[in-house]
This record gives sequence, C-alpha cells and structure tokens, in this order.
Amino acid sequence: MSGPAPQRSVHIATFGCQMNAYDSERISGLLASLGYTEVDQPQGADLIVLNTCSVRERAEQKVYSYVGALKRLKEAKPGLLIGVGGCVAQQEGDRLLKHIPHLDFVFGTGALERLPELVAEARKGRRRALTGAAPRELPLAPAPAPRPGLKALVTVMRGCDNFCAYCVVPYVRGREQSRPAAQLLAEAQALAARGVREITLLGQNVNSYRDPEGGLDFAGLLRRLAGVEGLWRLRFTTSHPKDLSPALIETLAGEPKVMEHLHLPAQAGSDPVLRAMGRGYTRGQYLELARRLRAAVPGVALGGDVIVGFPGESEEDFQQSLSLLQEVRYDFLYSFKYSDRPFTRAGRMAGKLAEPVKAERLRRLQARQRGIGLELHRALEGQTAEVLVEGPDKKGRGLVSGRCRAGRMVNFPGGPELVGRLVKVRIEQGRENSLLGRLEPAPGSEAS
Ligand code: SF4
Repeated sequence: MSGPAPQRSVHIATFGCQMNAYDSERISGLLASLGYTEVDQPQGADLIVLNTCSVRERAEQKVYSYVGALKRLKEAKPGLLIGVGGCVAQQEGDRLLKHIPHLDFVFGTGALERLPELVAEARKGRRRALTGAAPRELPLAPAPAPRPGLKALVTVMRGCDNFCAYCVVPYVRGREQSRPAAQLLAEAQALAARGVREITLLGQNVNSYRDPEGGLDFAGLLRRLAGVEGLWRLRFTTSHPKDLSPALIETLAGEPKVMEHLHLPAQAGSDPVLRAMGRGYTRGQYLELARRLRAAVPGVALGGDVIVGFPGESEEDFQQSLSLLQEVRYDFLYSFKYSDRPFTRAGRMAGKLAEPVKAERLRRLQARQRGIGLELHRALEGQTAEVLVEGPDKKGRGLVSGRCRAGRMVNFPGGPELVGRLVKVRIEQGRENSLLGRLEPAPGSEAS
C-alpha cells in the first residue's frame, strides 16, 4: 500500500536582527518548495538551519556553541543535515566546514537563494560552503513561508556604505542596494490582501533608500505604501541620524499610517568617540535632531543603541553617554559592550578596555535606562493608547496583548474576539517593559 510522500521537517534557528528574521522567512519559503515543513524544535527535525549574526562577538560565540550542541542530535540521527547561513557564514565560509565536522553546508548572505541546491547536494553527501558576493539584484520576495499573521517584515534595502569603525555589516552584507518601489508596493499589496495589517520596513539604513527605477526617497516610499488598502500601520528600522531628512520627519508627523516610533542609534554620547567611530554627526547635532523630532511628532517613541567601552573611551566619555540617555529619554535602548569584529578599523585601534571595565559601564548604563523607561511608562498612566491586538498575552493571565502606535507592549483584560482589531485602551499601570490597561467602553473604530 502506498501512502503520501513522507514530509521532511526543518528547524530554523535565527540569531540577530530583524533582517535575519526576514531572511529566515525566505529560508523557510525556499525549503518549503523542497517539501520541508518548519518545526519549532530541533529534536526530530530532518534539517537544522542556523541563520547567524556576527555583529556582536557574543552572538557569534552563541552560534558556535549552538552548532556544537547539535553534534549529539546528529549522532542519534545520522541522516540529519545541519547548515549555517547568514553573517557568520559569510565571514567564515569554508573555515566553518573545516572546524565543525558534523556541519553539512554553509551559505553566506550572498548565497541565500542557492540554498535548495546546497541542501540537494548535502543529501548526496557533498559538503559545500557558498559565500560569494552579495547578489546584484535583490529578488522580489512576495512569498515567504505562509505564516498568516497581522504583522510582516519587508526588506527595502540591504547592505551599508557607511563603514562605521566597529561594524562588520558592510563586509558581510555588502554595499547598499535598494529594492524597486514598484516591487515593494506589489509586495505590500499582496501582504495586505492576506490579512497583514502592519508592516515593518527593514534596512541597515533605510534613510538612504533610493528607488533604483525612479529615484523615490524613503519618505516618498512611505507615503506610497501608506496608500495600500487594508494596511493600517507602517514602521521602519534602522535610521542613521546623519541621513534623517526633514521630509521623513514631516512624513512621521503627517501620515497617520506611519507610527510614531523611531529607532535612531546614537552609539555614543561623546564627540571624540563619535568621531573615532566615524558616525558623521556630533552629540549636539544628534540632540538637535531628537529635539526636532519630539517637537514635530508629539508622543514619538525614540529608540537608541549605545556601545560602551569603544577603544579609548574614557570615564568622561562614558559619562557623556549616560547623560545622553537622560537628555534624549529613550523609550527603548539596545546597549552592548564593544567587541573587536573582523575586518573593522576599530579592531586595529589602540586603547582597548578591559572586560570588567566594559561590563561595569554596561551595568550602569542599563540601570540608568531602566529608571528612564519606567518613568516614561508611568507618565502614560491615565492616557489612551491605540492598540493593534495581536493575541493572548504570553503568560496566559487572561489578558490580550498588542502594541500601541509608539511600539510599546500593552496588556489588558480581553478575549480572543479582539485579536486583529484596533482598539482604544486606557493605560492604568506603567511597568518596566510593558503597559497594563483596560479596554475603553467604546471599543474605538477600526481603520480601513
Ligand atoms: S550605519 Fe554603521 S553601524 Fe549601521 S550597518 Fe552601516 S556600518 Fe554598521
């Protein structure tokens, strides 16, 4: 008796940023065409793919220990295939295959589209590493894994031309390439038709987006996408402060579908460190930008990145980063200890700081930010927020959760009938990482 062809399963482990999350959706889509169904756990999977990040040394170490731990699974299931993709793969290439004998294939950021070929060869026992240059043309990506949901990620550009002194991205993701606006519009329309209500546009530096076919800038692209029927919300990340244009601030202020939420990484608060990093702006210019944004876009939530312990950073420099937090009053902050990355200028700089000094500075910075975040959240008590309800809260407390326009997580009592709706919620309690509220008696109107 013959039954249906056996289904193969793949587990995809994603490390790093939202760009990687987007790439993982493409990986899932490409593997679905080979008959692989995605599963949540590596145990029992026929294929395990790690989509890696090398921006921080710690992220890279996590990848090595994760692949190391998979050895036991491979011994228990000899047919299991294991592949590594993403930035670490691009950076290490063949070396990964040499150092990790139980690894079957490696694909860099420029070879993602050739994944099916690598998997087919691995099945025949051929181990290969493909890195290559970043693709000349970004493929239209309208059909990632079929994961119907309210929210989707769309990459508008890849790569970066900025070469900040500490950053490996231009070396592993290549130079900037923008996708044509017409492709992006078609993709957004297709997503909205599938029920997606919120799109986050991704790029290493979306502010330097330029439509290769018509010259449209990023503010123009946002306005074009805001016209997509059925789409309620647009967000984007990341914005390089030196390229944030007045037109983009106007669009944030004037286009209701563009959320009041901006990630604007400063990286440091002192001018000598900003100069050494090659960021292209001063502390004063950055603060002026933050002031203009707050004045033009009431309620805007600003996010930042800060690196502590950059080579040569003095205690005084560090104090400037601490005071930057106080002046900008970030709603959310990603903070990291500096670590040497391959190829980078900072890796060759003198004045490296000892690990305990960096760790202690990071602790002080994060403690300062926790205090600021809590103050900002408490100041919202009594206000009303528009929330797109995403589902039950993760802790199963009879609450539902969603994000407000500024991107904060809001939990409130409610049932599954609210999922997928835009509702008004009165904020009753500001907590460190979220807000607790109550549905307003008149549930508010849904956008169309
Ligand atoms: S702008 Fe600087 S930090 Fe950001 S991706 Fe480009 S080089 Fe890296």
